[in-house]
Amino acid sequence: MTPEEALRSHRWCKLIVGASYHHVPAIRNLALVYGLAGVSCLDVAADPAIVRAALAGLDVAQRWGMPHRPWLMVSLNDGEDPHFRKAVFEGDRCPPDCAQPCRPVCPTQAIGWLQNGTGEWLGVTADLCYGCGRCLTVCPPQRIETVPQTYDPLALWRGPLGSEIQAIEIHTQPDRETAFAECWARLAPVIPQLRAVSVSFPDLPDLESALRARLAAMHPFPEHLIWQVDGRPMSGDIGRGTSHAAAKLGTRVLAMGLPGFVQLAGGTNDRTPQDLAAAPALAGAAFGGYGRTLVADLLARGGDHLETDAEAFTAAIARAKQLVTAVQGGTPPSPPQICYPA
Ligand code: SF4
Ligand code: SF4
Repeated sequence: MTPEEALRSHRWCKLIVGASYHHVPAIRNLALVYGLAGVSCLDVAADPAIVRAALAGLDVAQRWGMPHRPWLMVSLNDGEDPHFRKAVFEGDRCPPDCAQPCRPVCPTQAIGWLQNGTGEWLGVTADLCYGCGRCLTVCPPQRIETVPQTYDPLALWRGPLGSEIQAIEIHTQPDRETAFAECWARLAPVIPQLRAVSVSFPDLPDLESALRARLAAMHPFPEHLIWQVDGRPMSGDIGRGTSHAAAKLGTRVLAMGLPGFVQLAGGTNDRTPQDLAAAPALAGAAFGGYGRTLVADLLARGGDHLETDAEAFTAAIARAKQLVTAVQGGTPPSPPQICYPA
């Protein structure tokens, strides 16, 4: 099923690789595995090295018989946003008797012992951090800060990579109508070259007015518009119930009758196919932490080129395919494949 067919038939399944996730080998392998699983779209950071990593994974997937090429989407923001930040702290300022609760809560094992020529210290491996914020809330002396990630919205289109990108996502937040309109205006030259533009938002105050204000700024209007409802941001791997928040928000947005497709995100997991079946007007779902965690152990085993470990490669594709098929094929969801924290 091509991405366009998936969107039009409400079987759209996107993998959110992460707006701030920069681990090149993992991104290449995620693109490879989910490309072969038949995903509709890969959503990556708007960074040339990351786009190249995703393209490299898709090129390998093509050689392995990928059923169709998913659209490549890059994520941008109209201002400060939790999806566009990285955690930082100076480990030598941590209390020596701290039990380090920041480490086990990190879904990507980004917090650990880092080394340089003079020794080692506790810190965050920036490439692995995608800004989920879980470490911030558990640090007793609140030593962890965040650094915003910013991207030049048009940088990718000044070089050859622009022609490889089929979609853009703009993350917006409350009270940012003007910033959103300015962001859209900056992107106006490239929007006609794209297949889709997605607008990602949490449950904004006075939601319908906020979305209609953004709609009014959409000149030119994209070929396909996707409203990405970010129900409970970056939480799909925390527990099954998080999918409900996205589904509830999605149903509210559907009732507004806005032009475009409505797609779930933020809390999506193995429960989401059931939620989609209950609301068939929803166009589909995007999976972030859940989709990545589903194959993380196999990716870690396979190294930089997952296909060199036949067992891990095959198993990763099978797991990814179960998730994609549950959305695209309308079959009952598979049993949970990951262990949620207690
Ligand atoms: S818990 Fe989240 S914010 Fe903290 S280091 Fe890990 S990925 Fe980054
Ligand atoms: S929880 Fe906070 S103080 Fe403790 S090790 Fe982690 S960053 Fe340092």
